[in-house]
Formats: sequence, C-alpha cells, structure tokens
Amino acid sequence: MATVTLDTLRKEFDSGRLVAVDDVSLEVADGEFVTVVGPSGCGKSTTLRMIAGLEGPTSGRVLIGGEDVTDVNARHRDVAMVFQNYALYPHKTVRQNMAFGLRMSTDLGSDERNAKVDETAAMMGIEELLDDRPNELSGGQKQRVALGRAIVREPDVFLFDEPLSNLDAKLRTSMRTEIQRLQDELGTTAIYVTHDQEEAMTMGDRLAIMNDGVLQQTGTPTDVYTTPNSEFVGGFVGSPSMNVLDVTVETAADGVRLVNGDRFEYELAGERGERVAAADVTTARLGIRPENVRVTGGREGTETGVEVVEPVGSDNYLYLDLGPEFIARVDSDVEPETGDVIRVTFDPKDVHLFDATNGDSLL
Ligand code: ATP
Repeated sequence: MATVTLDTLRKEFDSGRLVAVDDVSLEVADGEFVTVVGPSGCGKSTTLRMIAGLEGPTSGRVLIGGEDVTDVNARHRDVAMVFQNYALYPHKTVRQNMAFGLRMSTDLGSDERNAKVDETAAMMGIEELLDDRPNELSGGQKQRVALGRAIVREPDVFLFDEPLSNLDAKLRTSMRTEIQRLQDELGTTAIYVTHDQEEAMTMGDRLAIMNDGVLQQTGTPTDVYTTPNSEFVGGFVGSPSMNVLDVTVETAADGVRLVNGDRFEYELAGERGERVAAADVTTARLGIRPENVRVTGGREGTETGVEVVEPVGSDNYLYLDLGPEFIARVDSDVEPETGDVIRVTFDPKDVHLFDATNGDSLL
C-alpha cells in the first residue's frame, strides 16, 4: 500500500531565518491523486523534494507505505519524479533515457528492460521516438518521454513538479487529461505540484492548498471552492477571484446583519447567523464569487456604477464600483455600457464571511 504520510514536516533555510515548509502534515491514500497548489515560493517544491528524498527535512517525518523513509536515500525510495524541465539526459536516446532508471532501480536484464520500454512507449504513443535524442524532440514529446521514463519504473508513487509549465496552453490541457488517465489506469499514488489554480481545480481527487509554507486547506476541488476555510483560499481558487468587501457586523434578533456603509445590508439568519454571532466580531470581510453577483434589472438591490464591461465569450465580466476589482460574471446577453448605473444583489447563502484580523472563515 503506497500511502504517503507527511508528519509535521518542516524545512528551514538560512539557519532558520526562512521557514519554507512549516510543520506540514498530510495523508495521501493509496492510489490517490493529490494536487499541491499555492503561489510561487509557498514551499510546494521543497515539500515534494523532501518526499522524493532530494532535500532533507529540518524536522518531521516522511512515510511511504507506512515505512519511515525520512533518512532513506532518494535512490532507494520507490518514487519517480517528473520535472518541469524534463531532466532528460541529452546524449542518450529516448530508449536509453527510459531504460536508465530501470537499470538503476531493478535487476532486470537488457531484454526485459527493452520489452518494458517498448510496452510503455506504446502506451504513451512514443514508439517512433525511441531512437531520437532529446534535442530532436518538441517540448510536448520531451514531456511525454519524461512521463514514460517515470511510468516504466512502476514506482509506488509519482511526484510531479509543474510538469506542464513549459508547454503551450492547448498541449497543457490535453496532457492534463492524459496524466489523469494514466494515473487512473495504473492506480499509482500521485502528488502533483502546480502554482496554477485552474490546473489544480481540474486535476486530482484532492487539493492541498499552501501559503507561506503552511498547509491552509485540503479537500476536493468542489469543497475548497464552495467552503474555503480562509480568505486566502477563497481568493486563491476560482477565476476571476472572489470579491471581498469590508462590512460591519451587527447583532440582530435572529443572527446578524452585515452592513457595508450605506450601500447594502444583509441578514444572515439560522445556523450561519448564529455562528457569526458566536464569533463576537464587529467587523468582517464579506466574500462573494463573481458568478453569484446577480444583476436585478429592477428596483431591488444595491446601486452601482459599471466601470468596464469585458466580454469573455459566453459571459461578460462587469467591473463594478462597489469595491476595488469588484467583478460580476453575467451571461453575455446582460450587456450594460461603461458608465451605466445598475442594481445588483446576492443571495445570503452565497455569502462567505472571514475574520478581518486572521482571515479565518466565520461560517
Ligand atoms: P515556485 O512555484 O516558485 O517553484 P514553490 O512554492 O515551489 O515556488 P519553493 O521552491 O519550495 O516554493 O521555495 C519555498 C521558499 O524556500 C522560497 O522562499 C525559496 O526562495 C526558498 N528556498 C527554496 N530552496 C532553497 C534553498 N536551497 N536555499 C535557500 N532558500 C530556498
């Protein structure tokens, strides 16, 4: 069983002045596909490199299949890593590149190695490339070979470090599907690092969202999208980003009232209202996703000016003067003009509310 367990894993650089990975604990199930995502410099690669054994932790443990491998050399961990820059040996042919890892990690004879390479090359559709050298290949072909090299070893765990970043948008999309298909077919546990939240939302059973070395939230893409546990996660997943406004919180008879100056007032009743009332705060940050901002067309709702109308095909993005970068995502047949005054509203069930001090969700 190739579970991967990170137990309060920590990595400090510069004699402790920089905490790249801050006591991260994470359990990846056997055969699960987990995508680690977060902004540049948040510690994703360092975490992956510690799982691979390419970097030693300052403290904490890495377990693979329940076995503590923290002090085991990278070579003796049954993991295969795919890098952004492909990391192919330039002077070896594709066949030699793919067979090399097998030679290092198994005691198969050369006929068996060749047979395995042929089988994997067929699975990846790269049979024609086996005698080529990396400089004769396109970026997409190189990444296919790098994937093939990882797959042929039949490792317990695949580790992907931004493997698609150097490919163009179209190829990236098709390779995403292909990686998921292969992982699903092979049933190999996989950990995939990316800084691209859109990529993360389309890949993997579960996301692990990092910021500043800290693991912020784990959950399915739907979970983290609909119930972010912090303003950071709410803003990081989803495009365009969640709109956020400052509100004051007033206790009402049943729950609370959220007030944004003299622009709008919303009641949060029932369980959600009670939770916010229990938090006993006087100010908060209200989050609302662009697709949840409704243009009313009538007299209902909050009046706001339209600053910019940006058509994006099936939808229009309306930049509204409700707040800095406040966007409503509406159907393309809703097309006000710049300078128009419209009315918008949102359903209290779509409202997110975050602590104004630490960003934690209050709901
Ligand atoms: P990116 O998406 O830009 O690759 P990341 O989330 O993968 O970012 P890491 O590469 O893990 O982030 O880096 C985390 C932090 O640790 C950064 O501040 C980085 O500068 C620092 N760091 C990484 N490796 C080293 C090193 N060998 N020596 C010193 N600092 C390092």
